[in-house]
Amino acid sequence: MQDYDLVVVGSANADLVVGVERRPGAGQTVLGSDLAVHPGGKGANQAVAAARLGARTALLARIGDDAHGRMLLDVQRRAGVDTAGVLVGGAPTGVALIVVDPSGDNSIVVSPGANARLGPGDVRAAGAMLRAARVVSLQLEIPLESVAETVRTAAAVDTRVVLNPSPPAPLPDDVLAACDPLVVNEHEAKALLAGDPASDDDSPEAWAEALLARGPRSVVVTLGAAGALVARADGGAGTVTVPSPAVRAVDTTGAGDAFTGALAWRLGAGDDLETAVRFAVRVGAAAVKRTGAQQSFPTLDELEDR
Ligand code: ADP
Repeated sequence: MQDYDLVVVGSANADLVVGVERRPGAGQTVLGSDLAVHPGGKGANQAVAAARLGARTALLARIGDDAHGRMLLDVQRRAGVDTAGVLVGGAPTGVALIVVDPSGDNSIVVSPGANARLGPGDVRAAGAMLRAARVVSLQLEIPLESVAETVRTAAAVDTRVVLNPSPPAPLPDDVLAACDPLVVNEHEAKALLAGDPASDDDSPEAWAEALLARGPRSVVVTLGAAGALVARADGGAGTVTVPSPAVRAVDTTGAGDAFTGALAWRLGAGDDLETAVRFAVRVGAAAVKRTGAQQSFPTLDELEDR
């Protein structure tokens, strides 16, 4: 019996944001705006994106026993995410300290906190949840051993694995081989391909082909306003570019997470990859029309209304 369309294994952070006239240099102190606290972390973002759309979603993550952790749990539950797999304690909740200047440029310090303590043992203990999933979605804001353990558990029962390698890091062959798809934006594609001639190319098709050669079953390259490109190892037909709806972009924060959460859900619901990407670009586009990350993610009704 498969109970979840999607289990997201990943990070949950509180994003602490202060606006400043000028970002401080070494030794400098500057005054800023009132503090804004937003729910974030790629794992938590993806789970909220999928659950808002109606997916039966669970999150496996670790937060601290503190106010930020309680805020994150509350947001997940209100979005409809099953939080039975959210573990508490071991370190403070992960935070991103963000200062933004009037031009929109920012400086960010991430303290992974509890995210760094989501260990392979935690993943093993959540084996039943992972085996009850149609799709498992991962990013790299938790320890790589925990990502690898999740992939092994999923592969043993043929659960589909979606991975967004962010922040980019070298991946073990067995992890890469399980990805269906590996989802990268332009920056992540180039980082993963560092040293490969394809990374000097400005062609997403070339990146996708070079990434496919590393072993994943499929690759999706997101291209911002230009949509996304799909390439399959068994594709034969080459790559397909799926355009994004034209929208007035207000804030692209979290667009990639909304895209990937939506994509993973549709794959779990049985769509083929190209159909799922056609849906996901609509969700990514909807997410850039409003400010913030999780608060910008659409419900299915909002998506259909546009
Ligand atoms: P990331 O947020 O990881 O940098 P992208 O910028 O590629 O990823 O955005 C992910 C998806 O969000 C895109 O594939 C697209 O569907 C949508 N998107 C992002 N920016 C825009 C935009 N300006 N207009 C329309 N859709 C967008």
